[in-house]
Amino acid sequence: MPTACIRTLGCPKNSVESELFAGIFSRAGWAVSDDPESSDLLLLNTCAFIAPAVEESLEAFYQAEEWRNRRVGRRLVLAGCLPGRFRDDGSGGLESVDLLLLPGEFSRLSGYLGTQGGPCGQLPLEGRILRYLRIADGCDNRCAYCTIPSIRGPFRPERRETILARAGEMVESGASEIGLVAQDSSMWRDGGTGLVQLADELAGTWESVWWRLYYIHPAHFPEELPGLFARRHNVMPWLDLPVQHSSGDLLRRMGRPYGREKLERILDLVDSAGLDIALRATVIAGYPGEGDADFDDLCEFLSGARALRSLVAFPYYDEEGTLEHSRAASRIPGDVTAYRLSVLGSIGDAAAAAWAARLGLGPLEVLAETSRTGHGRFDAPAVDGRCTFSRRVTPGKVYSCRVDEFTGLDMTVTPAPRGIDRAPRPSDASCQTRSKEDG
Ligand code: SF4
Repeated sequence: MPTACIRTLGCPKNSVESELFAGIFSRAGWAVSDDPESSDLLLLNTCAFIAPAVEESLEAFYQAEEWRNRRVGRRLVLAGCLPGRFRDDGSGGLESVDLLLLPGEFSRLSGYLGTQGGPCGQLPLEGRILRYLRIADGCDNRCAYCTIPSIRGPFRPERRETILARAGEMVESGASEIGLVAQDSSMWRDGGTGLVQLADELAGTWESVWWRLYYIHPAHFPEELPGLFARRHNVMPWLDLPVQHSSGDLLRRMGRPYGREKLERILDLVDSAGLDIALRATVIAGYPGEGDADFDDLCEFLSGARALRSLVAFPYYDEEGTLEHSRAASRIPGDVTAYRLSVLGSIGDAAAAAWAARLGLGPLEVLAETSRTGHGRFDAPAVDGRCTFSRRVTPGKVYSCRVDEFTGLDMTVTPAPRGIDRAPRPSDASCQTRSKEDG
């Protein structure tokens, strides 16, 4: 049986695509391995939305070419955003591969392997406990700094039935947490059903699974979302908000149709939901035209955000092909951007310390990813705080824990003797509510 190895770069959305590719290999009678040396074909699924991602993908591509050239008969398939972004200009010699797949070209892979059809299910590649389910691909927003709409095309939501079927397969194969992902999840609709109704249905159908919603664009923030967090204990009270900035002038220039008022309203809704909700915010520092007053506005906004748990600050990347790149604008000097990033780092540290004080008060539910490590309700796996257990636990189970020590967002925790078999209801003692904290 021929064997394929799939290597994924970039975010969870790419992991989903890799698992869909794996499903196609399996249907075509291939084995899928994580060892390139024993494989006949290597599929490299790339990311290329900003310069560092392009560099990482090109580096991986050159290594993959070396892998292929070391043995006659090996085949290399290049997929994802790198060919999506550079397919036309020939840069990087991408055409030397055996097959080049643009984003979403599943049927071409099927044809190449001698079968037919599009994706036929996600084959888990990196364990079965944490899974990601893509509810849409592409983006109709036109942020002035972003390459993604030109790489991935217009917004295309998955059908509700497809999402439910894939969720069922994931639960069946042992998923303990499923993250819903898209470029802009808040835009998802199928007929009269929106994201909140979808998450409600998923969480109600599979109550023992933790559900986490990624990428909620502030302009399309569903106001019922905090209520869903309060109603469904197994929808994680974790808000992934790409804030990017708070200054109205900057947001207008970025092509993001909201202002500070909208952001404040979201925080008010979060604060009034009656439970702790963790905000994960991403922001851009050093955007062209960002004056001192704009930056002060951003710092003031973030410092006043009680929910802020995790702050991720990126420098502005000037990407070819974007509207911002075409503007003859004054760029922010690198040392100014570096200084602003350090200030944002301090705000992030203060937010983590405030949350440490809050989490130290009561039990925290932690999902075990391995026998020694996991993540809590208020942290997404891989990107936020990580928990280390003080004793061995069973991977895939949720434990009610006492937090012994904090290091930034990371924690050392002592689990109660037994895992929680079923997600408790919000009224259970292990649910961390505002009244508990205040009391
Ligand atoms: S919402 Fe904006 S930043 Fe996000 S993928 Fe779409 S265009 Fe890019």
